[in-house]
Amino acid sequence: MSDASSRPTLGGIAQGLSGSRRDFLRSSAGMVLGGALAGASPFLYAGPLKKRKMIVVTFGGGARDQETFAPQGQDNIPRLLKELIPQASFFTQVVNHGILGHYVATASLATGVYETLNNFASVPPQHPTVFEYFRKDLKRPPTDAWVVAPSNGFSHIGESDSRLYGPGWGAQVVLPKHLLMAAMSQGTTDYEHLLRDNYETPLFAPQLGGNEFELRQLETMLKLSVADFKSQAKTISSPDELSIYVAHQLMRQQAPSLIWITMHDIDVAHTGAYSLYVEAIRRTDRLCAELWKIVQSNPEYAGNTTMLILPDFGRDSDEEAGGNGFQHHRTGDPSSRTTWMMALGAGVREGVIYDHPLQSTDLVPTLGSIMGFQATLSQGRPIQDLL
Ligand SMILES: [Zn+2]
Repeated sequence: MSDASSRPTLGGIAQGLSGSRRDFLRSSAGMVLGGALAGASPFLYAGPLKKRKMIVVTFGGGARDQETFAPQGQDNIPRLLKELIPQASFFTQVVNHGILGHYVATASLATGVYETLNNFASVPPQHPTVFEYFRKDLKRPPTDAWVVAPSNGFSHIGESDSRLYGPGWGAQVVLPKHLLMAAMSQGTTDYEHLLRDNYETPLFAPQLGGNEFELRQLETMLKLSVADFKSQAKTISSPDELSIYVAHQLMRQQAPSLIWITMHDIDVAHTGAYSLYVEAIRRTDRLCAELWKIVQSNPEYAGNTTMLILPDFGRDSDEEAGGNGFQHHRTGDPSSRTTWMMALGAGVREGVIYDHPLQSTDLVPTLGSIMGFQATLSQGRPIQDLL
């Protein structure tokens, strides 16, 4: 019989996970500990605030350390380890204390409040989103904040129903799969590999109305003809790859200052296919590196962009009773709650690890401090190491 009071605490286990990530990165990527640099100024971005760009990428719907930031996982994330992390500040302990469903967790990341909305309902977040703070405080136009999201269920993530901010200050949301459905002709089966909407439950299949808005997004905002978009989509292997393609077009055509890309392929783990889960981690690793290359090759972004990569949450450990290992995130155990974040680009110290505990809700106030807006209703605190 195990006595609940003698079990290790979330804090203790989270610290252990954080420590093993730290030790792994020090040996595999040559990172140094942030504490050793005390006194040096972390603020490296000296360009005008108005030109500053921010890209937030959520890393795919939850991966565990065994398959990523641990010796046995390192072959799955070569691009992160060899290309991105040496340029990054890496935070080893970002704990999510909220509900572990992808929509509600992503909404919480975007509001800085642990949202309690129904994960499987097409509803807006209850608290103001980062997009509303950003646009209203800085008086930015609608084209300056965008979300690229994997599932039709994310259609409301760009704008809360908080009376303090809405309506009209949210981000534009682009749903690549819905664009594709709008663009393709009836009856074609060429794109089915891109259209699966979510992996958590087959019962959740939100329907969106009419396709005029999507076609207008394609043609006037992304400057893509339907024919070009369809022929490009045929060459694309996964929904996340489609999202990166759409984000690339968006950056070329609109050059928004705030872009939020939610990746989701890794969540294929719910099907129980370990090989597909690992393949998706490898693809996400590659897509993050490709996105950073896109940033460097675009003069609107090169040199003035900060990119943050973090998972919405993790997945269950193999040990926890009631779980099923990598397949789900049902137990709420430390493995599924203790994630990480990397920051790279403008204003970020390179090759540094920080292992003090942070929360998922710290993201929005940190973005506010970097970009110059107030996230007045968020619950988190700005991460001082990025300011
Ligand atoms: Zn999931």
